[in-house]
Amino acid sequence: MQCVQCKENFDHGTAEIEAYKIFDAVLSDSCPDCRHRRHLIFRNERNLFNTKSFLSGKNIISLYPKTTKHRIIDSEEWWSDRFDATMYGHEFDFNRPFFDQIKELKKEVPRWSKICLNVENSEFSNNSANVKDSYLAFSSCDGEQMHYCMRVIKSSFCIDCMNVNDSQYCSNSLDLKKCYGVHYSQSSESCNDSYFVFDCKNCADCILCAQLRNKKYCILNKELSKEEYEKQKKEFLANLGQNMNKMKQKFEEIKRLVLYKNLRITKSEDSIGDFISSSKNAINCYSVSDLQDCTNLYDCYACKNCHDNLANDKSELCLEVDTAYDMYNCKLCTYSVSERDCTYTDQCMINKNLFGCVGLKHQQYCILNKKYSKEDYEEMLKKIKLHMQKTGEWGKPFPATLTPFPYNITVAQEYYPLTKDQAIAQGFEWYEEEEQIAPTEKYKIPYNVEEIDESICKKVLVCEETGKLYNIIPQELRFYKQMKLPLPRISPHQRYMELLKMLPPKHLRDTVCSSCNAKIKTVYPADTWRKIVCNECYLKKVY
Ligand SMILES: [Zn+2]
Ligand SMILES: [Zn+2]
Repeated sequence: MQCVQCKENFDHGTAEIEAYKIFDAVLSDSCPDCRHRRHLIFRNERNLFNTKSFLSGKNIISLYPKTTKHRIIDSEEWWSDRFDATMYGHEFDFNRPFFDQIKELKKEVPRWSKICLNVENSEFSNNSANVKDSYLAFSSCDGEQMHYCMRVIKSSFCIDCMNVNDSQYCSNSLDLKKCYGVHYSQSSESCNDSYFVFDCKNCADCILCAQLRNKKYCILNKELSKEEYEKQKKEFLANLGQNMNKMKQKFEEIKRLVLYKNLRITKSEDSIGDFISSSKNAINCYSVSDLQDCTNLYDCYACKNCHDNLANDKSELCLEVDTAYDMYNCKLCTYSVSERDCTYTDQCMINKNLFGCVGLKHQQYCILNKKYSKEDYEEMLKKIKLHMQKTGEWGKPFPATLTPFPYNITVAQEYYPLTKDQAIAQGFEWYEEEEQIAPTEKYKIPYNVEEIDESICKKVLVCEETGKLYNIIPQELRFYKQMKLPLPRISPHQRYMELLKMLPPKHLRDTVCSSCNAKIKTVYPADTWRKIVCNECYLKKVY
């Protein structure tokens, strides 16, 4: 059928049709990509603002800009006895559409400023858990000293990293696993003390290398003696500050010389998508692990029987759920944790049997935040279903315009960017960036990190690429001094965007293996320089 949003043709697979029947939901009229986009519109991952608490008036760090129409409180207040969102309960009005009523409720109920569990000395973090002494660590967990990090797990002393696991002392890198002292690198595993390495495994002391296995002392894939390597490395590090752009360009060049496996799927059965590991029957899933019988999942971990989910972990039987954890038998929910048998919840934690609720904790049998007896709740649900079937809302997800965030601070802006006019025309809010006052004298960062002292941390720096202002934090300076690497001359946002640019799209397309001509699917875009091969051909050449 044709997607109502993007007009592309798409099919509902058999797994999807079965799942929607079980959940008593209406099959989506949007393609999986447009569903993914809608979920992203409900997620602000890494934009933090100074806001005032609606309850206490104190200054808090939150995901909402000052101009927000929502009431914001911090998580301590959210959990306190002073806050009980059942006081905002409404009688369901059978003369009006449900989505109008939930929209009003969303405006009334105070929202938690951001969500972090068990974080210490890491105030500027979001969607993170068990994190210590970190600054701007997002969707990261189980680590310390992770600065400007996105999805960094079980790691410490990492800066400007994305999708990094089990690693230490790494920086400016994407998709690393079990690495130590690896910088400006991508898609590598079990490597040490290396710079600009791509798709390398079990390598140490390498510079500008791609697709190497079990190598040492290599530069541009050429093996050197230890002495020669050390000599060249010294020179490389001494000039890296001046040569940074040249090195980045060289890195892009060496990435063109290697083979690309069409899809990155490991230790999985009957699965299709990209960046899938340890899964069974994961269909059209991306950046996922430990899944079983799931379709259309993005950035999810340890889920079973889930469909059309984004950033949902350790959950079972979920349909159309985003930014969630430990959910069971829930559908059409956003930003919720530890819920059982819930439908249409937003920012709810540890509840059972909710329908259309916002900001509840430890509740059962509520509709529009109003409490019912078990019998009345069940009776009401029957009536509501009939009503919503009449209004055409039954089984449909929250309309994207119910997002609490301006479009340009959501993750959707990173993957599906809109201009201000486009966003407003589509019914979204837009965040106007506050004007920055540039310093009168532009400070030139010395290339040699040894010449820099702590006074730089008080300076306002100007991003060489975007003109945006930024600063260097003391932990960052210490890291770069220790690693003998130059300080970044571009802003954290721009550094993030550079890593993001390296990620392939989360969308499958048909192609043929450039080696054996077999028909294959891939996520890499068409007409690129990449030599894309099937799994068998990849394994024949690279092991
Ligand atoms: Zn579409
Ligand atoms: Zn092949």
